[in-house]
Amino acid sequence: MIPKAAYHRVLIKVSGEAFCGSGGFGIDPSALEAFITELLPVRQMGVQIGLVVGGGNIFRGRSLAEAGLIARPTADAMGMLATVMNALALGDALAGRQYGHPSGRGVKVSVMSARPTADVCEPFTRSRAIEHLEAGRIVILAGGTGNPFFTTDTCAALRAGEIGAEVLMKATKVDGVFDSDPADNPEAKKFDRITYDEVLARRLGVMDLSAVSMCMEAAIPIIVFRMDKPGNLAAAVAGENAGTIVSDN
Ligand code: UDP
Repeated sequence: MIPKAAYHRVLIKVSGEAFCGSGGFGIDPSALEAFITELLPVRQMGVQIGLVVGGGNIFRGRSLAEAGLIARPTADAMGMLATVMNALALGDALAGRQYGHPSGRGVKVSVMSARPTADVCEPFTRSRAIEHLEAGRIVILAGGTGNPFFTTDTCAALRAGEIGAEVLMKATKVDGVFDSDPADNPEAKKFDRITYDEVLARRLGVMDLSAVSMCMEAAIPIIVFRMDKPGNLAAAVAGENAGTIVSDN
């Protein structure tokens, strides 16, 4: 039985690493397939889905710029183009069959970009994104905010506000928000709920702090959950305790 959704419209933030497998580079079709397998049940729940994709599996601007050869704005432009590559891969893998591609799932999608890539993506506009969502299309948001010195976490918070998502779902490799890094500290304690203020005050590494403060400002709760646990995304969308909820109480 398909569980009932707790939300009408969600914004899912998925990092590029979900597309390459742990520690990998580029796009691994089996990792992409695994992500789609988790995403499709959510769609069957009738939820409107906006998806912000990262690009860290290909380029992260800051690390590229640190070597000193490439200026940060250029490196960030490369990072934003990396998110476009991921978005195109995901879009085709989801929609494919619609265009005669044999392996795609025939799901209605729209790939929109905040960077000009007019021959492959539709330019992002808030009104058009909402039209797509209401028409039942998964809206894949590429190109980050379109500006350097930002990350796709911040972009996800921004877009969640813009499209009127009721929640920002941050897909991660860990079970939620911890009081210290569980990779370093086996005693790290996980929170089921935590406030924005506490995340900010303790500088907990959930997601970029600018994204957290943006969600606080717009009163958009954040659910931090593990993506590679089968059924966990659907459980989070069904309102189950699937990770950590960051909100104002
Ligand atoms: N980026 C940017 N502006 C944005 C969003 C992203 O310049 O609004 C660049 C930045 O260089 C970043 C890269 O795109 O490192 C990939 O995004 P991110 O690091 O957030 O990807 P993730 O870690 O989520 O895979």
